[in-house]
Amino acid sequence: MSRINVLDIETVNKIAAGEVVERPASAVKELIENSIDAGATKITVEIKNGGISYIRVTDNGSGILSGDVEKAFLPHSTSKISDIKDLETLYTMGFRGEALSSISSVSHVDLLTKTKDELYGTSMSLEGGKVVSKQEAGCPDGTTIAISNLFYNTPARFNFLKKDVTEASHISDVVSRMIIGNPNVSIKYISSGREVMFSPGNGSLRDAYASVYGLELANALKEVNYDYEGIKVTGLVGLTHLARANRNMQDFYVNGRWVKSKTIIHAAEQAYKTMLMVGKYPILLLNISLDASKTDVNVHPSKLEIKFSDERVIHSAVFWAVQNAILSSDKVKEVEDKPKVSITSTYTPKQERPKQAFLDFNPEKPVNFDEIFKKELVDIFKKQEEKPVAKQKEMAFADSGNLEMEQTKAVPVTEFKVIGQIFNTFIIIQRGQEMLLIDQHAVHERINYNEIVKNAKVKSQVLLMPESILLSATEHSVVFQNLSVYADMGFEIEDFGENNIIVRSAPDGIDVSDIQNTIIEISDIIKSGGNTEEIYDRARFSVACKKAIKANHKIDVKEMEYLASVALNDDSVRTCPHGRPVVISFSRQFIEKQFKRIV
Ligand code: ADP
Ligand code: MG
Repeated sequence: MSRINVLDIETVNKIAAGEVVERPASAVKELIENSIDAGATKITVEIKNGGISYIRVTDNGSGILSGDVEKAFLPHSTSKISDIKDLETLYTMGFRGEALSSISSVSHVDLLTKTKDELYGTSMSLEGGKVVSKQEAGCPDGTTIAISNLFYNTPARFNFLKKDVTEASHISDVVSRMIIGNPNVSIKYISSGREVMFSPGNGSLRDAYASVYGLELANALKEVNYDYEGIKVTGLVGLTHLARANRNMQDFYVNGRWVKSKTIIHAAEQAYKTMLMVGKYPILLLNISLDASKTDVNVHPSKLEIKFSDERVIHSAVFWAVQNAILSSDKVKEVEDKPKVSITSTYTPKQERPKQAFLDFNPEKPVNFDEIFKKELVDIFKKQEEKPVAKQKEMAFADSGNLEMEQTKAVPVTEFKVIGQIFNTFIIIQRGQEMLLIDQHAVHERINYNEIVKNAKVKSQVLLMPESILLSATEHSVVFQNLSVYADMGFEIEDFGENNIIVRSAPDGIDVSDIQNTIIEISDIIKSGGNTEEIYDRARFSVACKKAIKANHKIDVKEMEYLASVALNDDSVRTCPHGRPVVISFSRQFIEKQFKRIV
């Protein structure tokens, strides 16, 4: 039997550190929050090697009294609350009193701090949470905390860290959020000696936004300013033509704190209703101010998920605030334009399914009709119907006149007959005693992917008109630190200043309107990390998807025949290792059974 041990404080802190500081970016977040809580109006963040070897945050805030400096690094030490009642009216960023103790337990920390009433400041160094030196020091009012060698004594954490660029891009996300959430504070961010961002701190949200995303975008956004039952919603939102391929440009703040909230996302996107294409997300920056007692931010250790005591009223406030902003803008026509529908990638690595030829509906085999038919097919169809445009379209069977399949030269073809296309999305095939449904986008995507893998590089086309694209600061730095990945994916990209890029060549066969999405998608892929092979594989999928025929797109019989012949004869296409099925089969017996012709 093992005996029960009470863990010593060092071990407890190291465990707690895992919750608070997951990576360098989380340490940066905690330090900036502390500076803001200390009333700083100027903050400088400097990092080296993605923050892994060095992070320094300097502020002009209140400073820490010489007699209190050791206390600041003890667990559960905070100047922000003294008992549980304070939690209800809390407006500060931190209150758990665990950031400094956690960070210092897994790094080397140098502190330099001075309050304005003290003549001298204090300098103190800690290693693994233990004070190794402390003395008086001459320094300006405010606090500087430098962290080096993060996770030096927790190898498991250290090994979990990604490449410098990846960690740096997480930090740049954190700094971006802090800048936008605190327009009254001037924040400067320097990474490996280069000034990446600088906000003026003049109180203007638009100016703060511009220092992260560039002046052009900041000026194109519409202002939100709305009061609803004691809730104030302010911010900036983009009209539909600025919509993005992901939600990276959606930031929500509650009482100045960056949060995640499904309620806010849903309400805000609802305000755009059918104006947006499928797979497009509006640019949103919303700041919600309300009585702190109506929120609960203490739900998650990293304090990101927020809960409201009345989610419904928040939903209404956000919905009306956003709708008001986009409808009162002078670009109403744009908003009313009926969007076309597109579909996003079928690449879903987490849902990897066992290799299978077709989803088989042979009633001889013990298949559960409810489970498979309803889930796989009805769901797919329903999704199509939910899309606003698809709804209006009739079941458009293509001309199924003389569709007797000719044998093509390239592949030995099993005999089949193209019956037509439904929902402009699926091809219906009759082959022997079965009916097949083929997903046109999935097949084409798979064909493209195989071709890319075979040739190692994506075939590139020079654009007649070079495309100019605005990226976020983070995306911009990811693109330029990984130009070779983009080159291999068929892109030729040049810097155009202020986070703008010029695309001179793009993957052959890709729509111009998809270029921006693809570039951003690849930057997301790189950012999310993984080894080079994984990154390349997912990037290939992204390009393959964008090059593919979309769902809700009418194709002619020749195209159907081509896609069907590959889908039915090329094993490497049929047995897609990553995504959804490409072909679904219904046996004649199965169909007859449904009509009770046989039992
Ligand atoms: P919390 O922020 O939850 O109170 P921390 O561990 O982050 O806990 O900080 C502990 C305490 O150290 C804070 O409550 C504050 O009193 C002090 N402190 C930390 N950073 C600063 C700073 N930049 N300026 C002034 N005081 C600070
Ligand atoms: Mg704190």
